[in-house]
Amino acid sequence: MEYGCYICNRIIKTGEKFTFTKEGPVHMDCFLAAQRKKVHEDKQEYLRNLAMVLDYELTYLVSLLELKTDNKESSELIRRRITAIEKQAGETTGLIYNL
Ligand SMILES: [Zn+2]
Repeated sequence: MEYGCYICNRIIKTGEKFTFTKEGPVHMDCFLAAQRKKVHEDKQEYLRNLAMVLDYELTYLVSLLELKTDNKESSELIRRRITAIEKQAGETTGLIYNL
């Protein structure tokens, strides 16, 4: 899978943290930098906390995506964990996007 980041227009490489908004795929760092500029002063602290949560979630997701196993049971577990963390990261991204 090859995605281009809609902010910096670069290809998102394996191991880079990225997420999806309504506008498409975006690097986490590009997305957060853009939101920091956009979001009102009153909501900057909330944004900082959400950004930390998203960073943890995407760090975990990237680690899971890099796990390789031939064992059927572990790959099934990893797949389920990926689905769960993608859902959570998607929700956090939405909260940040709509600030
Ligand atoms: Zn980017």
